[in-house]
Amino acid sequence: MKILCADYIVTCNDNFDIIKDGAICFDNKIVQIGKADKVIEDNPYAKVKKLSPNSVIMPSLVNTHVHLEFSANKTTLIYGDFVKWLQSIISKRDELQKNCNDICYENAINEMLESGILAFGAVSSFGDDMISCYKAPQRVVYFNEILGSNADMIDEIKSNFDKRVQKSFEMKSKSFIPALSIHAPYSTHPILANHITKLAKKDNLLISTHFMESLAEREWLDSGSGKFKEFLNTFNKNAKPMYSPAKYLDLFEECKTIFVHANCCTQNEYKKISSLGSYISHCLVSNRLLNNPLLNLKTVLQNNIPLCIGTDGLSSNISLNIWDELRSVLFAHIDIDVLTLSKYLLNAATRNGAYALGLEESAYLQNGKNADMITILLPDHVEDLKQLPLELILHTKKVKSGYINGERYV
Ligand SMILES: [Zn+2]
Repeated sequence: MKILCADYIVTCNDNFDIIKDGAICFDNKIVQIGKADKVIEDNPYAKVKKLSPNSVIMPSLVNTHVHLEFSANKTTLIYGDFVKWLQSIISKRDELQKNCNDICYENAINEMLESGILAFGAVSSFGDDMISCYKAPQRVVYFNEILGSNADMIDEIKSNFDKRVQKSFEMKSKSFIPALSIHAPYSTHPILANHITKLAKKDNLLISTHFMESLAEREWLDSGSGKFKEFLNTFNKNAKPMYSPAKYLDLFEECKTIFVHANCCTQNEYKKISSLGSYISHCLVSNRLLNNPLLNLKTVLQNNIPLCIGTDGLSSNISLNIWDELRSVLFAHIDIDVLTLSKYLLNAATRNGAYALGLEESAYLQNGKNADMITILLPDHVEDLKQLPLELILHTKKVKSGYINGERYV
């Protein structure tokens, strides 16, 4: 057993307790957490390590939405318009895929690891990143994604998809958990979407889906018009919306779902997402780069929808470092008090993300939970503990160490 002592422990538990001069005694689970003197006295045989002054211990960070397959993008894709970006993804897909080899995946995974992301949800369209995700030190929820709207192709898409899912199940382990993804309501035929929800219910699998990401998607699903009409007509001259937004949301009854983006929802749609017990993954930088509206965080909170954080892929971000993302979120939502928002964001990036990915045992720091945690060194001491969440978000770029099941990986 080991004991780590730090000036501050941010537990992210139900009360958001912060322990000053605290310690955690752990093996693969947390054995005891509390004031350092007491923890050391109660566990005389544990090896004690005192972290540098101004150190913080907190739960591991969770990136709920990332596409590793586009990690080779730097300046290739078109930003500033969602539909133009989608078109550039389609035209540059082969080039980007070819340029992302195992080292490219490893770099992306390491960037997340060094920022303290010890669990992530990877959405995979082709399965090219499966082995890299399997080998990653982090806990990975691997969302096998399906898409396609051409009715003639459904059998082929389904059969290829089932093979990918099967392969991911053969690799299933404690830290590699297969899951499912429906790309979006504008891109996925109802037969395919139903195939996924059926599978999810049968095997109790998580689902992730992009939903209401752009005003173009809003217009298309509401009235079958706008920029999407032009875009989808290039694939099918008679393209029509395959669902109303309400019908699409109905698909997820009795499913454990993460709705990604959901920044263009109506009040009724937020109510529905709330009643489904689903999560919203907020990928703010991606929304900004593609000129999509800012999520109305106040409305999400009023509807009691738990928010989690996603960096999205390097296809629409410059960084997979979750602290970069948190700083952007903090600076963008100016209608919420900065201290309140900081505290909320630390919960979003830890416990909410862990719950969303089905990793409840790693959600916060408490006796009996997994010893999944990170340590951070602040540049100076913080006198008023109410300021601590904000200071963490402002100053952290990389973590000093990271533990999964009590083993050090950073
Ligand atoms: Zn995405």
